[in-house]
Amino acid sequence: MRVLITGAAGFLGSHLAERFLGEGHRVVGLDNFVTGSPDNIGHLLENARFKFYRYDVTDFIYVEGELDGVLHFASPASPIDYLQLPIQTLKVGSLGTHKALGLAKAKGARFLLASTSEVYGDPAVHPQPETYWGHVNPVGPRGVYDEAKRFSEAMTMAYHRYHDVDTRIARIFNTYGPRMRQNDGRVVSNFCVQALRGEPLTIYGDGSQTRSFCYVDDLIEGIYRLFNVGYTDPVNLGNPAEFTVRQLAELVLDLTASDAGIEQRALPEDDPKIRQPDISLARELLGWEPRIEVREGLRRTLEYFSGL
Ligand code: UDP
Repeated sequence: MRVLITGAAGFLGSHLAERFLGEGHRVVGLDNFVTGSPDNIGHLLENARFKFYRYDVTDFIYVEGELDGVLHFASPASPIDYLQLPIQTLKVGSLGTHKALGLAKAKGARFLLASTSEVYGDPAVHPQPETYWGHVNPVGPRGVYDEAKRFSEAMTMAYHRYHDVDTRIARIFNTYGPRMRQNDGRVVSNFCVQALRGEPLTIYGDGSQTRSFCYVDDLIEGIYRLFNVGYTDPVNLGNPAEFTVRQLAELVLDLTASDAGIEQRALPEDDPKIRQPDISLARELLGWEPRIEVREGLRRTLEYFSGL
């Protein structure tokens, strides 16, 4: 196969490119480096089956030759990123998704959208099944990301229904691992970097909010399987093992033998209180579930950050 990945220099995009290359496919990667980094793909550039172009996918995308797949992973995805880049976030979710779908349609390629658990907002249903419509504040600070992704899901379904494009929607829950940015602002990268520097871990609010953390290799396996099955409705991908932010902090302190402790900060506006994927559908459809426990995943992530 020959596939195009938008956001190929990002955290997930680069792991996904690596996976497709590892399976013997050809990959065209696009990224404008707003949040992605050349460091993430340096090792892939030697591979003759990988082509990379610095490009903003909100502009018309022209690619020569045949494509079997378009995987749309371009977007700022961390709360601090989309708070600093609200217009880019809205544009890549709307205009970028439109362009990527247009390309898939023109090439007769399969399309996979990287959607998010943020489409569920601050959820009133727990855990979140795909059938839950969500609880999103459209005008809050996170609305730029949540609504862009909700729009991109609607656009994907429209291209499927009206243009017959073969589409997939992955609703990705919190994922962590090597190649997250050190200053990404997300909880796992913050805690790892802080602990390695011997600084106190910053807990926002009282730390009772929960998240469910999936190690990147597990997530990529789920994406790869989803791409290869014939199912067009959204599918949750994430690890159902749910932790409070405080538990996560304690785990990181324990793994790093740090005695720097914890420092409490203000809770960001509209911060979801709970989050846990219901992955029954992915289990049944893909025969998939995460294998790497958070302790092991954190160990590998700490190893990555300590080598930077
Ligand atoms: N958080 C925290 N300390 C940090 C960074 C984040 O306590 O240094 C909290 C944040 O308020 C949220 C959770 O950790 O409740 C997960 O935040 P993250 O930014 O990783 O992603 P989100 O799931 O909110 O998109």
